Formats: sequence, C-alpha cells, structure tokens
Amino acid sequence: MHELALTEKMLRLVLTEAERHQAEKITKIKICLGELSGIIKDCVAYYFQLSARDTIAAGAELEFGLSTAKLFCPDCKLEFEKTPRDFNCPVCGGLSRLTGSGREWFVESIEVE
Ligand SMILES: [Zn+2]
Repeated sequence: MHELALTEKMLRLVLTEAERHQAEKITKIKICLGELSGIIKDCVAYYFQLSARDTIAAGAELEFGLSTAKLFCPDCKLEFEKTPRDFNCPVCGGLSRLTGSGREWFVESIEVE
C-alpha cells in the first residue's frame, strides 16, 4: 500500500507548516481522505507513530474526515454525491460516471502549541 509514502509526505507538510508558525509542538492533525482513495486510516495512524517519533509532531492526535465521491450524469449534466451503493442519477435514474473527486487526500488543519 501507499500509506507509508503518504504519511511521510503528510508529516513533511505539517512540520513545514508548524515551523512557519514557530510552533513548538503539533497537537492535532486533521486529515481528509477521499472515499475512493483506498487509504486505510489505521495504517496512516500506525506509520505516523513511527515517522513522527523524533519530531515535534510526536504524540499528535490524528483526526480523519471523509470526503464523498461525486458522480456526474452526462444526460442531465448533473453532479451529485455518491450514495454508498448507488451509481444512478437521482433525476433520470441513468447510469452516471465518477468525476475525479473522492481519490484525493489533504491535510485540513493542524493545531499547534
Ligand atoms: Zn440523469
């Protein structure tokens, strides 16, 4: 899986951000994961423990948010949020297709001291 690479990238990102604010400690990191990203948050949490050990982010609380994938119906030109088991357009009932969203991840916010 790609969680290790992601975690290291995320850690670099938050450390840079914390440095810019001259923070002494990162207490909380909020991460948003796209529901189609395939990223397993437990893995991220695990790798984070290891990677952040010797940094000011050690012991920071991780909070995960989920961003919903969006679908697009080519007939209605309508974009809507995907429901758990449905790919059909809520207007015409036709089969819609995935937009690019839902595969991304990003750091939503960090809290520092
Ligand atoms: Zn439609």
